[in-house]
Order: sequence, then structure tokens, then C-alpha cells
Amino acid sequence: SDCLPIEPAAPKARRSRQARAVWGSRTVTIGGDAPVRIQSMTNTDTVDAIGTAIQVKELAIAGSELVRITVNTPEAAAQVPYIREQLDRMGIDVPLVGDFHYNGHRLLTDYPDCAQALSKYRINPGNVGKGDKRDRQFGQMIEAAMRWNKVVRIGVNWGSLDQELLAHLMDVNSARAQPWEAKSVMYEALISSAVESAHRAVEMGMDANQIILSCKVSGVQDLVSVYRELAKRCDYALHLGLTEAGMGTKGTVASSVALGILLQEGIGDTIRVSLTPQPGESRTQEVVIASEIIQSLGLRSFVPSVTACPGCGRTTSTTFQELAKQIDDHLRANMPVWREKYPGVEKMKVAVMGCIVNGPGESKHADIGISLPGNGEAPAAPVFIDGEKALTLRGDNIANEFHQLVENYVEKRFGH
Ligand code: SF4
Repeated sequence: SDCLPIEPAAPKARRSRQARAVWGSRTVTIGGDAPVRIQSMTNTDTVDAIGTAIQVKELAIAGSELVRITVNTPEAAAQVPYIREQLDRMGIDVPLVGDFHYNGHRLLTDYPDCAQALSKYRINPGNVGKGDKRDRQFGQMIEAAMRWNKVVRIGVNWGSLDQELLAHLMDVNSARAQPWEAKSVMYEALISSAVESAHRAVEMGMDANQIILSCKVSGVQDLVSVYRELAKRCDYALHLGLTEAGMGTKGTVASSVALGILLQEGIGDTIRVSLTPQPGESRTQEVVIASEIIQSLGLRSFVPSVTACPGCGRTTSTTFQELAKQIDDHLRANMPVWREKYPGVEKMKVAVMGCIVNGPGESKHADIGISLPGNGEAPAAPVFIDGEKALTLRGDNIANEFHQLVENYVEKRFGH
């Protein structure tokens, strides 16, 4: 019967302004036609310059394209140029973002080397000061950004919302014929605080391209509501993240759902996954999750993907799970070298499947795939390469032989 073609889903595009985070002769662009950038934040005391530089290095190697450090005291500000120097010495090419609250105006004024070493300042309009002081102190930070040609992120968080603005909006709301529900007032306060602060910075002479906005909340539906509206009201580049997402599975799932919805709508130019690390868990896990969110939406590719089935009663052996993990670990471990040596390898797809029910089908969709024998099946593992059955592996050495086939495929397909 006649039917219309089904359009493949794809992320929409929201064209934003483009910010340029510069350090030395290097630049990372955010927004505009730049890819969605991954960023993260250290949890070391910035006064511990070596410990902080080491964590920045780990995050950068994991794939963080900007790393934020807290700059909360004069002692921390004094260490920032030294941290930058250490990173340069280690060849770590990542811009540093300074996270300022309460005293940023003083630190950026009193520590010009710190102001210069950072590539971007995060300003929280909810805690730059009260009353008259607020405009003056906010102005001092914007002046520093203009003097040193830095990007600013005007980052509102609903845990530290501008209380004067909120009180004002509540008054306005109560005078309405039909008052909004409390949540709408809160959304409005978040968005107004960010957008109006940005407009104030532009009135002072700040280049609008160098302004990034964020309005972080900790609920998925709240984040979607706020960012949809924020994206409508301005064309600044947007930093996207679910704040205080939580620990483990809950934090991972909540961040993935919230960021996935918005990125699919073209909203978000740089993302951070704010996970609470579990004891012993590496800080780099948030970078891995951010990369996976972006890659799973088809926005960017970072590492070859391994498709593996969940397994079921048709395969009671764990061989296919072990092989899938080995291949995945091997591909990830090789990426720092392969990225240079084999351009395009990050788009490769490998399938490792547990039996012939879906194995050959998935293998055909992959660049290279294998179906291990399930219970009661002949002890043979068909391998598909570029959609065609290429050979069948047998015996006790299937895992090693498949490893070698993957290596050969990478060399042949992506090598020069
Ligand atoms: Fe089960 Fe086979 Fe499907 Fe894997 S491919 S889930 S082993 S039926």
C-alpha cells in the first residue's frame, strides 16, 4: 500500500552566537557552527595547584574541552597562573574557566595574572552583591572580561537565585489578574536574571558573542521548560546541564534524559554532566557520560561504538559479554593514538552478539561484527565485514582472532 517515507529523526539546529575561549595562540569556539562542547569541573582545592593541574589533565584526556576550576579565595586566585603554566608544560591543551561567587569582582581586579590565565569567567548574578553594590560588582567582572578578552558565562542556578529579583517578580505576579503558578514565577526569575544580566553586560560594551548563558535547575521537566524559553528569548550560546543531578544511575539517567531532549531540539552549545562521584569513582566519569550523550544523538563521534546484545537464555556462556567488553576497552584505550593515525575511526561500528537470532543482522549494520555461537548452535562464529559475510571463526581462539580482524580492519579502512 502507498505510504509516506518515514523521515529519520535528527537533532534540530539553533543558530547561536559564537564565543571564543582563547589561551595563548589557541582557541576553543562555543556556539555558532561549533560542535557541542564537553566541559567539566575539578573538585580539588584550587590552592593545591599540582593536584588541580593533574585533575584538569585527567579530565582533558578523557575528552573535556573546557575545564572549570573554582576560584574562591585570594590564595586560589594566586595559584591559577601556576596551574595554567603546569598544564602548558604538560602539553595539556584545554582552556581554564574560573568559577566565581561573591568575591569574583575583587579577585579578578586584585589578581590580574589570574584574570589573564583564565579563558572564561563564570559569573553567578545571584551572588554578585545586593542593591547598589550588585551593578558595580557585576560591572567590575565584565570590565575584567573586556580588558582581557575573555568569555563570560552568566550562570544562574536556582539554588542561588537573585532574591531581590525573585521578590520583585512575586510582587508583579500577585498583582496580575490571573497569577501564574509558583513554578512559572521561578522560571521567569531564572531566565530574566540571565538575559537581563547579559543585556547589561552588552550595554557596558561587552561583545555579545563572548557571552554564554545558563539557567540550571535540578529537575528534568523544569530544565526543559526553562531552556526552551531561554532559547526563544535570546541568541547567546547556551551552556546546558542539569545541576546537582545526583549520584550513579539516577544522576546519569536524569542528565541523559534532560540533555537528550534539549540537544535534540538544538538547544545547548556546551554541556556539563554534574554527577556526584561515588566513593572511588573517577571524576572523569562525567566526561565519558557527556561524550556518550552527544554521540548517541549523532551530534559528534568520539570513539568507535560497540553494539552488543543483552544476552538471554539462548546463550548461557559469558564469552560474548567478555569479548564485547574487551573490544570496547581496546578501542577506547587506543583512541588517543588512533585519532591522529586513523582519521574517521571514531565513526566505526563493531557488533558483538550472543547468537544467530539477531547476530548476523546487527553485524551487517556494523562495519565489522561477530555472532558467537548460542546454546545448541554449531560451534561457529560468522564474521561480517562491510555488510558481507567474510569468514567464520571456530575453535578456542575466536576472541583473539576477532581482535586481530578488528585491528586489520582499522588499518585497512582508516590508515593512509
Ligand atoms: Fe539472546 Fe541471541 Fe538476541 Fe543475544 S542475539 S539477546 S543471545 S536472542
